[in-house]
Amino acid sequence: MKIGEEASAAIAGASDLAALDVVRTALLGRKAGQVTELLKILPQLPPDDRREAGAVVNALKTAVGEKLDERNAELSKAAPAAASDADLTMPGRARWLGAKHPITLVIEEIEEIFRDLGFTIAVGPEAETEWYNFTSLNFPADHPAMDMHDTLYLSEGVLLRTHTSPVQMRTMQSHKPPIRVLSPGNVYRRDFFDASHAPMFAQIEGLCVDEGISFVDLKAVLTHFANRFFGKTKTRFRPSFFPFTEPSAEMDVECVICGGSGCASCKGTGWMEILGSGMVHPRVLKAAGIDDEKYTGWAFGMGPARIAKLRYNIPDIRILYDSDVRFLEQVAR
Ligand SMILES: [Zn+2]
Repeated sequence: MKIGEEASAAIAGASDLAALDVVRTALLGRKAGQVTELLKILPQLPPDDRREAGAVVNALKTAVGEKLDERNAELSKAAPAAASDADLTMPGRARWLGAKHPITLVIEEIEEIFRDLGFTIAVGPEAETEWYNFTSLNFPADHPAMDMHDTLYLSEGVLLRTHTSPVQMRTMQSHKPPIRVLSPGNVYRRDFFDASHAPMFAQIEGLCVDEGISFVDLKAVLTHFANRFFGKTKTRFRPSFFPFTEPSAEMDVECVICGGSGCASCKGTGWMEILGSGMVHPRVLKAAGIDDEKYTGWAFGMGPARIAKLRYNIPDIRILYDSDVRFLEQVAR
């Protein structure tokens, strides 16, 4: 056991990792390590002694190995490897820094397309008055949307906006035509949180007001948008109704999943509705103080979550609000 004591002393005496390495070689080195040499002697012993000696030497080897590892851990903690030991040419370990949310990506892409057409971005408050959210936008006083059931009221006459249209009204009040604005933002509705509804969601609206603006401008700009956003695609306009536009139309694009042949996502129609639009109602222009004899305009609105759902083929919009990194990593750019 003399070797055991000597080994312990040598290991404890090693003052740094390099010294410890020397001790390790002296003890366990394959060529002339003290413990290794003992193991080599074993086969020469008489068979009766071999067994007992073998157990002793192996126990020693294990104990020495453990002591070396312990000392190594102590010394490593006290003095981290010198910079000269590190291979500075090794590429760094990349950490995932996060990425933009798919809804943000969609909004930014839409903004870019309309910015190229001369639109600017306008924002407004999320807590709005009933007048900006409904009355000025030609909602009749008994419109179901104004019901407490559908709208989140903060106090009498003050609510969480149900769409970003109040921004259009505020823009028309503060700017003279020509007006070309895009208003992205969050809106609130009393709704269930299910596969296609959420109580809070992003919306993006556009407004164009000038002399001589017609439905042709609306169709041309929105078709241009669809072709740029979805790639060359077919579009169609279907008559619709909104209180603040007349005439109104919903725009469909050819189903991005089946390419128009019909699938479960488009309920077999080959089309997907992406936005609502229309010519700004003269009463809305009047409410904003704009001469509705001289000026006309068009507007549209869409839900970026719905667009993201189409673009990334997401079956359930709740995943967009879950902050699940596994999903976000898949769509991150
Ligand atoms: Zn389809």
